[in-house]
Amino acid sequence: MSTDSAPLSQVLADVLLPLALPQAYSYRVPEGLTLQAGDYVAVPLGPRQIIGVVWEMRPAFPTNMKLRDVIQRFDMVPMSETHRKFIEWLANYYLEPAGNVLRMALRVPAVFEEAKQNIAYRAGPERPAKLTPQRQRVLEVATQGFAMRASELADAAGVGVSVVKALAKTGALEEVALPAHRAFREPDLNAGGHSLNKDQAIAAATLRQVVAARMHKVMLLDGVTGSGKTEVYFEAMAAALAGGKQVLLLLPEIALTATFIARVENRFGCEPAQWHSDLKARERERVWRGVAEGKAKIVVGARSALFLPWAKLGLIVVDEEHENAYKQDEGVPYHARDMAVLYGSVGKFPVVLSSATPSLESLLNVDRERYGIVKLKDRHGRPELPEVTRIDMTREKIESGTWLSQPLTDAVTQTLKDGDQALLFLNRRGFAPLTLCRSCGHRLHCPHCAAAMVEHRFKKILMCHHCGHKEPVPKACPECGTEGDMVPVGPGIERLAEEAVRKFPEARIAILSSDLSRGQMLRDTLRDVENGDVNLVIGTQLVAKGHHFPHLTLVGVVDTDLVLESSDPRAGERTWALLAQVAGRAGRGAKPGKAMVQTYVPQHPLMQALLKGDRDTYLNMEKVVRENAGLPPHGRLAALVISGKDASETERFARFIANAAPLAEGITVLGPAPAPIAMVRGRTRWRLLVKAKRDVNIQSFLREWLREVKPKGSLALSIDVDPYNFL
Ligand code: ADP
Ligand code: ZN
Repeated sequence: MSTDSAPLSQVLADVLLPLALPQAYSYRVPEGLTLQAGDYVAVPLGPRQIIGVVWEMRPAFPTNMKLRDVIQRFDMVPMSETHRKFIEWLANYYLEPAGNVLRMALRVPAVFEEAKQNIAYRAGPERPAKLTPQRQRVLEVATQGFAMRASELADAAGVGVSVVKALAKTGALEEVALPAHRAFREPDLNAGGHSLNKDQAIAAATLRQVVAARMHKVMLLDGVTGSGKTEVYFEAMAAALAGGKQVLLLLPEIALTATFIARVENRFGCEPAQWHSDLKARERERVWRGVAEGKAKIVVGARSALFLPWAKLGLIVVDEEHENAYKQDEGVPYHARDMAVLYGSVGKFPVVLSSATPSLESLLNVDRERYGIVKLKDRHGRPELPEVTRIDMTREKIESGTWLSQPLTDAVTQTLKDGDQALLFLNRRGFAPLTLCRSCGHRLHCPHCAAAMVEHRFKKILMCHHCGHKEPVPKACPECGTEGDMVPVGPGIERLAEEAVRKFPEARIAILSSDLSRGQMLRDTLRDVENGDVNLVIGTQLVAKGHHFPHLTLVGVVDTDLVLESSDPRAGERTWALLAQVAGRAGRGAKPGKAMVQTYVPQHPLMQALLKGDRDTYLNMEKVVRENAGLPPHGRLAALVISGKDASETERFARFIANAAPLAEGITVLGPAPAPIAMVRGRTRWRLLVKAKRDVNIQSFLREWLREVKPKGSLALSIDVDPYNFL
């Protein structure tokens, strides 16, 4: 190496790129460009240009390595050091390349376009001479509404950007300057809110104190449904805002309804920024920038809001902290509640976890005095939770192919007659979970997965819930050829709806299931339910998530779905939370409510606890079971899923990985075993489960073990630290 090959005065920027890369790449900073850590830059990578973030600046040392130049710096507030640290820590925790995590933080392409082109398009006066179907679509979108950027317009019409540009040349689209973003209003901390009752006031004062201390501290806000947890954490938010900080309120995506947003708006006198998956590109950009510049003070968002470029985050509230929806399974498998806590410890600010059915993880952290706790014991203005009664299905006579017992049917009829609203809860999508041939017993299975095809009668298809494969319902059995003998087996939400239409012909019914309504449509239906325009709701777990339905007085749980023998160690806790939450939807308005639970296991401890409203006894029992088994939260888990196109090759690879596991104190490796769903999308799946004592560093064990493991060909290895999915 010779000292004269590179000038010493140069500065290097280590730039992290949003790709599956563990480290930042070095680039030269060209003459005339000043950069600092956190800056968003464009850099060359091979033939491409990529947007990344300067992770570190350092002086150049003489080297033979030919480094390329940074192309451009974007005129934006740099990503804070805290946010960069958060990204790094999260990557470390989940054994992900940091670049993959950065990718989640940069999912707002429009932000980087704006500097270059502040031009939008709308329908112009001309008609193009040549009107292709693609052009037609663009024009349809363009005449519908606002001016849009070329890329957004192209996206919305499902065409390439070139189609838009070409249309603009013909005069069929015209260019307009994009208006500036709507500004974020400053919250007014005394704009609204109720005067708190005694319990609420005590809880709020404690939270305010914690926030005012400006230190990292996790508080569990534990209160029965309807006790006013929202009102209480609003006070914690007000305290953080008073200190000039930004506040993030995380909700499961589905709970982000217009009514909830209106509640925040009433309390703080300004519309909060929202962040969820079906925001328009321009609004995403507005929020992203507003957060980066510290102007968006309150963000109400789904889990991915954690990755917004926070300028001065001072509090995260995680509502419904027990919700499994906080766990992302695809891509980087992270748990937003846990990462909110991690962010708080990196950023040295408090985190409030709120729930009527807290997770055992959080409860154990309270037991160990790592978390503080505040409790709300009573429902506001109504001391009792809904009365829960049990319908012993082993004693009920019920016509085959129907699911509603006489007592539940009568109760629904009465509720509707009284002008109130009822909810029937069944946690199964589709019409029937299984279709079989009555002649030969053949069951319809997905050709790509080891799973039954589920009939969706409204859509007139069979669907695989694992890979999405669809096919028409066959008239004849594909096995024995008998016609007209295929029958549905078991209940699904659509089948229940059919029964409800028969039994309650006058009812105004809404069906709430993730595959029937999503996004805006779902929000609209939820609004109809809230307004009481609908008087009979038939829903899956979608309805259990934090909604406030003021007209609802009766909840009927159709099938308790006690999958307690399943491979999921949290099955009991989950079933408990789901049932308690669903029951808790009843009687939140002016009238008291009740819940009726149909069950085939009336003596099950969970059932007993539910009747008595005795959460603690049941959860304490669960805690003991988990402790004895060394399962979370008492121990730690990581799941390894090995998959591949070739069955025997996949098995061999799984065994090879298992054999390579180092011996370590306090760690057991279970498996490999075929996954409960042994094939998905034509890929064979094997699983390994790593069980570690709580104080063992499971990440370094995994790193050590898997360093040399390199899947080849179609083989893949995915690592899930703290798994919630055991299929
Ligand atoms: P939770 O979040 O615990 O389920 P909410 O905060 O949604 O409970 O409160 C339930 C209902 O009671 C809401 O309509 C809320 O506006 C109302 N409420 C709660 N506390 C008060 C209060 N102190 N004064 C008036 N209304 C209240
Ligand atoms: Zn499938």
